[in-house]
Amino acid sequence: MAGVLEFLKRAGRTSGVEDWIIEVLSRPEKVHKATLIAKMDDGRVRTFQAYRVQYSTLRGPAKGGIRFHPEVNEEEVIALAFWMTIKNAVMDLPFGGGKGGVKVDPKELSVGELEKLSRAYVRAFADVLGVDRDVPAPDVYTDQRIMAWMLDEYEAIMRKREPGMITGKPLALGGSYVRGVATALGGFFVLHEVLREVGVKKPSLAIQGFGNAGRNFARLAAEAGWKVVAVSDSKGGVLDKDGLDVEELLKVKREIGSVVSYRGGRRISNEELLTLDVDVVVPAAIEGAIDEHIARRVKANVVLELANGPTTPEADRVLQRRGVVVVPDVLANAGGVTVSYFEWVQNRTGERWSEEEVKRRLRERMVSAFRNVVERAGDMKKLREGAYVLALERLAEAVRWRF
Ligand code: NAD
Repeated sequence: MAGVLEFLKRAGRTSGVEDWIIEVLSRPEKVHKATLIAKMDDGRVRTFQAYRVQYSTLRGPAKGGIRFHPEVNEEEVIALAFWMTIKNAVMDLPFGGGKGGVKVDPKELSVGELEKLSRAYVRAFADVLGVDRDVPAPDVYTDQRIMAWMLDEYEAIMRKREPGMITGKPLALGGSYVRGVATALGGFFVLHEVLREVGVKKPSLAIQGFGNAGRNFARLAAEAGWKVVAVSDSKGGVLDKDGLDVEELLKVKREIGSVVSYRGGRRISNEELLTLDVDVVVPAAIEGAIDEHIARRVKANVVLELANGPTTPEADRVLQRRGVVVVPDVLANAGGVTVSYFEWVQNRTGERWSEEEVKRRLRERMVSAFRNVVERAGDMKKLREGAYVLALERLAEAVRWRF
């Protein structure tokens, strides 16, 4: 947690926000824990450690995804809930920050077991969730199907319909258009603005990770006529300096399972991908992908953080010193939670916005957030600092009015 709070403390020093406010924001409001119990298909009963952290509700209900992963632990969920607090404040959404998780390898579970676990999660935390309390969403290894089970369980317990208690739902249950590609699209809108600032028209890109964020981003980049020269997934990467055929990559990933089966180009490692001579590197896979050693060898002018926390604090310092423009996660990947907010608004008003409408509103929000961040940063090399200062200003104002 100390590393995670470093950016907040730095922003506190830059903006002169009172120490007691930094102290308030350095601790989660509530950490809920539960042991989930579920009967497996073979009759065995298993237990799973589960968490829901409401880091902050100063600016609105807590908001953040639920992760199913074998490495979930309390400290990680708190850190992720902290990031959501910052991200929601950067985007000026009327939410605080939250996150949830279950320590489980979902790949080991059958569909029926996964449903039991999802419903057990809601039974454990139903009292603290709700449209005005805490609004979960999908995260790593959770998806719209899991959101549908969770909503159904919650509504059964509460004996009423309340679609706005969770986002990332299927359209049929009150989901929003664009939610599935929102993270990539939000990052794409921000990158457009960044490229205008740095004077690059048709960038070359290397994208790490070919899941929801990376894959959809690659598609948008290709559609814009940008050159995607390298992509990767957990099995490794592939490079073609003349540009990869993104449609073919999507097909290979879907049918064979990894981008490394792409015919043509050259196989590369994930590390090599991050240090290629391209205009933009897009880490869209895992935390801590760019460490100090890699940061020293990054040749791109711009790093667009679609993943959460892909750059370590030490690496961040190196990149800043070397003049690389880092578009921080709390801005670059905020398209997902922004469309979650649109979903929540539609649920509360009973409206359904068209795809075009959602895209238009997303673009407007992303561009406006970017402008605000640049204004606070005063320098394109300090966007992370600008984002944290902006978030801190907004959070501090809420703290001062309340206490
Ligand atoms: P995903 O599970 O759909 O895809 C992850 C991708 O990363 C896969 O292609 C996987 O093969 C690859 N990968 C895993 N380990 C790797 C490694 N060691 N090296 C290289 N590639 C590796 O996940 P996602 O939803 O695309 O999320 C990716 C990142 O973006 C995460 O940090 C997530 O928190 C962040 N993010 C996603 C969203 C969203 O809406 N999907 C929103 C905000 C932030």
